Amino acid sequence: MTLLQTVSIHCPYCGEPIEVLVDCSLPVQEYIEDCSVCCRPINLTVNASDTDAVEVSATTENE
Ligand SMILES: [Zn+2]
Repeated sequence: MTLLQTVSIHCPYCGEPIEVLVDCSLPVQEYIEDCSVCCRPINLTVNASDTDAVEVSATTENE
């Protein structure tokens, strides 16, 4: 088990699949990461309470 996991999401702005690196040492976290394709700020909500099934939801900054 590693505390850093790569999770694939879809950008809520441009719809492109991008990969984010999640630090699973925190069970719940929220942060902003710029899309690597369109560079807009994605609001990421991470639920890593189960490190085998890390959930990442990506929303626009205004949601
Ligand atoms: Zn994008």
